[in-house]
Amino acid sequence: MKIKNITVHDIRFPTSLQNLGTDAVHVDCDYSATYVKIYTEDPKLNGTGISFTIGKGNELCVSALAHFTPLFLGRTVSEVEAEMASLWKQCTNHSQLRWVGPEKGVIHLAVASLFNGLWDLVSKFHNKPLWQYILDLGDEEFLQKLTFSYLDDVISEEEALRIIRGKRVQLNASRQDILENGFPCYTTAAGWLGYSDEKMTNLTNEYLKQGWTHFKVKVGQDIDRDIKRCALIRELIGCENKLMVDANQIWSVNESIENINLLKEFDLYFVEEPTHPDDILGFKKIKNSINDVKLATGEMCQNRILFKQFIEHKALDFLQIDSCRLASISEIIPILLIASKFDIPVIAHAGGVGLCEYVQHLNIINKCLITNNSTFMSEYADSCAEHLVNPAKIANGSYITPKHPGYSAIIKDSSIKEFEYPNGNYWKTYVH
Ligand SMILES: [Mg+2]
Repeated sequence: MKIKNITVHDIRFPTSLQNLGTDAVHVDCDYSATYVKIYTEDPKLNGTGISFTIGKGNELCVSALAHFTPLFLGRTVSEVEAEMASLWKQCTNHSQLRWVGPEKGVIHLAVASLFNGLWDLVSKFHNKPLWQYILDLGDEEFLQKLTFSYLDDVISEEEALRIIRGKRVQLNASRQDILENGFPCYTTAAGWLGYSDEKMTNLTNEYLKQGWTHFKVKVGQDIDRDIKRCALIRELIGCENKLMVDANQIWSVNESIENINLLKEFDLYFVEEPTHPDDILGFKKIKNSINDVKLATGEMCQNRILFKQFIEHKALDFLQIDSCRLASISEIIPILLIASKFDIPVIAHAGGVGLCEYVQHLNIINKCLITNNSTFMSEYADSCAEHLVNPAKIANGSYITPKHPGYSAIIKDSSIKEFEYPNGNYWKTYVH
């Protein structure tokens, strides 16, 4: 079964009109997707991959993909499956393109969308949900598909194999648990920074009624307002539910220390991204000055190397992988293995377009095959679900385990027609 064609689409949803996704630094997000469609000789078999962006710049990821797609045309799906690791390396380590990376920024986001699509294609080829496809692979075969480059100083492939083999012992029970109970998540959707107190109150009450127990609010615009927002939401959810805050990198290291010490009276489960996402030593300094408040980061960690350092230096308490910034599960699984070795809980970043659909698979793989940590939690925000064919489903604050074949993030054809930029119906008539 050969790959016949690959198309790439610049999809942008005008979510800034509802203040969706607003935080201390991203004030006008138009949730967007670099959307890759991989067609095979069988009209019923195709793969789709997403990299999530927030508007302008999406066209850069789209155009970067023109350098990679020819490599895959004419290859069979079986070849792609067998050679996943070397194909990944050919893209991420391309002799010229690596100059505009390496393994970071636009070029890495482009590779992420392509490989998300290839993993989707391969699991659909086997007619299984991605998580099921991975769980059914042989341990060595699975590890051979991933990248462990630059990681040998923290984890060897033998250690990785030991972790997975250790988890196999309870695999039937953990798979049964995931099918029956799903995977717990928290909601960010009540606490966007652009929301008024009234809107936040109404949404929080609504989510409480739906069974949510973990809530995150955005902070970082103004510390007095942050204190008021935290006080309001803590009062609404009571002391029995969990509250976390997200500063989206707005503070310096010193400001982080000062502000977290002001906010900690609200019994925070964690503080997310207080400062620049690359500042591993800065995170350490913050951690050393805020007593037992825990730090979370990772949605803007550009690659596995940065995660390796964050984990090894104990500069984070919760690891928040991003399914579209890291270049697919080829790179994500090795990070989860390192987190398992160092006993760091993983709380995957989600929301945007397609992220919830992806992380539901990653959470299952992590729980069943990788982590020995007992914290099970993931983010959820139902943004843009109406544009997806198989949006993630939630019941009582948990992801319901997906059972359809593939990696789940497929944008409806009608939404592509409407929101492809700049020639979709919506953008054609949009007045700038
Ligand atoms: Mg965040």
